[in-house]
Amino acid sequence: MSRLLETFRVGDAEIAALSDGAPDRSMETFFREFDAEGWAQALGLSSPSDPIPFNFGSFLIRSGADMVLVDSGFGTAGRETGAPGGGELPQRMQELGVGPTEVTAVVHTHLHPDHCGWDLDMAAEGQLSFSNATVYVHEKDVEHFMGQEQSQFTRTAQRVVPALRQADRLSTVDGEKAVTPSVTMVPTPGHTPGHCSVLVASGGEHLLITGDVAHHPKQFEHHDLVPAVDVDPEASVASRAKLAALAADRNALVTGGHWPILTTGHVRRVETGYVWEPA
Ligand SMILES: [Zn+2]
Repeated sequence: MSRLLETFRVGDAEIAALSDGAPDRSMETFFREFDAEGWAQALGLSSPSDPIPFNFGSFLIRSGADMVLVDSGFGTAGRETGAPGGGELPQRMQELGVGPTEVTAVVHTHLHPDHCGWDLDMAAEGQLSFSNATVYVHEKDVEHFMGQEQSQFTRTAQRVVPALRQADRLSTVDGEKAVTPSVTMVPTPGHTPGHCSVLVASGGEHLLITGDVAHHPKQFEHHDLVPAVDVDPEASVASRAKLAALAADRNALVTGGHWPILTTGHVRRVETGYVWEPA
């Protein structure tokens, strides 16, 4: 199993999990109100500060004439801020045999810099990487990221959004949105105001791409594991509950962009809540 590129099918849709970079990182300071010892025990770590495999992941969903890219990695911004990993997505697409101009739609779970990094190709003077794609973002994320001072969190979005607008490629959504017959954006706010997860439905099968509702599958069992950077902790917890119910109801295969390739599983209802079952 490659840590960087894997493909699988969901009904008639062909899914590629692509990594923009896969560094290890410690999650010890990542969550607020964090039971560090419980975490170490659940993951079998000798110490809660032990680094675990992390990923800056995108998903390419091919179905009929549609080619949908979910998130576009860290791009070169990670290197600018000294964050480890990132910048490898174009290489992954080349290995897959897909050119950036073949992408028909880009869906952003949200506009943090590690999710829209390759919308602009900084090596090509900031040209749009996916020049034939309509780019879908929830309008609340556009408002949130454009309405703040420039910072390491907003800088990439503040470059990307005006460029997409100028090229007439930005499509903002204000609720659940079917981007293609098989790909639907599902609002799951909390991490950011306009955060969306992505549901793929094809041939009676379902895939749920969590986005940053879950940086680790364990969060489906512990909805109160809230990342410190989340703008609305209460909404964040509610979105995990919403997504757990959706995953269980649809018997969906579940995966996430920050999970190591290829981490997938199912969320099952039990008396005490939900359990995560690795696939
Ligand atoms: Zn993220």
